Amino acid sequence: MMKIDVLTLFPEMFEGVFGHSILKKAEDQHAVQYNVVNFRSYADNKHQTVDDYPYGGGAGMVLKPQPIFDAVKDLQDKSSSSPRVILLCPQGERYTQNKAEELAASDHLIFICGHYEGYDERIREHIVTDEISIGDYVLTGGELGAMVVIDSVVRLLPEVLGNEESHMKDSFSTGVLEHPHYTRPADFRGMKVPEVLTSGNHRLINEWRDKESLRRTYMRRPDLLEGTELTSQQKKWLEEIKKDAK
Ligand code: SAM
Repeated sequence: MMKIDVLTLFPEMFEGVFGHSILKKAEDQHAVQYNVVNFRSYADNKHQTVDDYPYGGGAGMVLKPQPIFDAVKDLQDKSSSSPRVILLCPQGERYTQNKAEELAASDHLIFICGHYEGYDERIREHIVTDEISIGDYVLTGGELGAMVVIDSVVRLLPEVLGNEESHMKDSFSTGVLEHPHYTRPADFRGMKVPEVLTSGNHRLINEWRDKESLRRTYMRRPDLLEGTELTSQQKKWLEEIKKDAK
């Protein structure tokens, strides 16, 4: 079972996310165990202060090292493995599906959610194993980032999704975007489903899906194709797709 600890100043924010849908199901199935900790409770001063003014002056408050160092040490001491310590941070490596797969192979993850102007640099330098940004924009706090990362990791744990196959063809898992989906009715207000999908011929259906997946990637995210090794069939399709696009 994977253990996930979250260090935050706003534990209530996680109740909705961990208490519903796949993340809740995963906990009920004992695929994961969540532990949300308010690191204010580790502050060793009378008023349980967790932030202070920045040395050198300037706007905003900075998270002090002591509460976070002590909270992480406590969680590490209780762990039977050596946990990854993940700092949510707009300056970190940009989060990808590859990183989600890498994290899903771990037994224990500790997430640190920042707030205010940021963290004392010694936290980053001495206790963190991974710094993750969920995109090139600035959030108020690390909580939403931690939720994004946790959701994408937990759904990859074995047997969390009903059909183990169901994340295998997700966008990015295969290096390309997923093909389009359709459901009933086959004719919705004159807008028709591609005929091949109602043909019952699974070989042709799979072929259509693979080609449309490639087309979608070429049209929307051609950058992904640069890092993907294509089969000879895919290369042939790509030439056709490029001609169609002209
Ligand atoms: N002053 C910081 C900077 O410019 O890099 C931004 C601090 S931000 C207001 C407060 C906290 O939100 C950060 O410490 C981090 O935990 C979280 N955060 C903000 N943007 C994020 C992003 N893109 N990805 C992950 N976490 C983010």
